[in-house]
Amino acid sequence: MELPYSDLHCHSCYSDGELTPAELLQIAAERGVKVFALTDHDTVAGVQELRAAAVDSSVKVLSGAELTCGWGRGMVHIIGLGFDETDSLLGEYLQGLDKLRLERAGLIAQKLVKRNIPDLLPRVIELAGTGQIGRPHFAQAMVEAGVVNNEAQAFNRYLGAGKVGDVKVEWPTMEQGINIIRQSGGVAVLAHPTKYNMTFTKVRIMIESFNEQGGDAIEISYPGIESGHTLQLDKLATKYEMMISAGSDFHKKQFHWTAIGKYPGYSSNNAHVLSKLLQH
Ligand code: AMP
Ligand code: MN
Ligand code: MN
Ligand code: MN
Repeated sequence: MELPYSDLHCHSCYSDGELTPAELLQIAAERGVKVFALTDHDTVAGVQELRAAAVDSSVKVLSGAELTCGWGRGMVHIIGLGFDETDSLLGEYLQGLDKLRLERAGLIAQKLVKRNIPDLLPRVIELAGTGQIGRPHFAQAMVEAGVVNNEAQAFNRYLGAGKVGDVKVEWPTMEQGINIIRQSGGVAVLAHPTKYNMTFTKVRIMIESFNEQGGDAIEISYPGIESGHTLQLDKLATKYEMMISAGSDFHKKQFHWTAIGKYPGYSSNNAHVLSKLLQH
């Protein structure tokens, strides 16, 4: 079956993206996307707005979220697609994450103050607005305050893995992330497996563990992935009989390395998540 062109990984102003769900949908339609999922970090706040906008659109939309989860000492992102966004257990789970992210933001601000950076918390809260608060808002506030020249520098110096602003918190586990997605009727997709600063040996272990814990699919195409890695991830999907997914991970126009609907082309014999998600 020929599947419609899709983008199943995208961020709006409800997390660390800049556009509204309706604006994203409009651009997705212009770019030939036929199925679109909004996958904001740890929130479904934009999903209803997306559904409302889709009423007048030729694009089919799916609920989604990108859940931050702990795995061992590290952190992974698990995308949920096609779940019931009004599910009450999912709602409680996400409320826990709102609280955790706000607490983490306070801790990040304190750590940065100790490095003689002004208290950025009030501005970060303002920048996040009604959206889920995250490190990219710190990066923006640091640029505004003249602490760094750009957001990449903010991550390299202060916010990235192992830096002072990479504050450790107890995220829900990978297993809890998978379970909450599945119990609300969705499929669980391991996001961008090669983007966690791990060796490929560790990536294999992560995928094995994701599969053992009930994960459904892995992303095999996204901006910045090498074609060799796409092939290897596709083979791992075959090995574990998991589905595959792909998306742009679009955040904002200023990030010139990606655009809505854009990700490297690939060929695969594995089932795409849409083959399941478009059944109902
Ligand atoms: P958080 O959700 O608060 O843990 O922040 C993670 C987000 O920060 C990711 O989803 C990216 O959007 C962004 N991010 C991570 N690393 C970088 C980087 N090196 N440069 C710019 N943005 C980044
Ligand atoms: Mn992000
Ligand atoms: Mn991610
Ligand atoms: Mn993302």
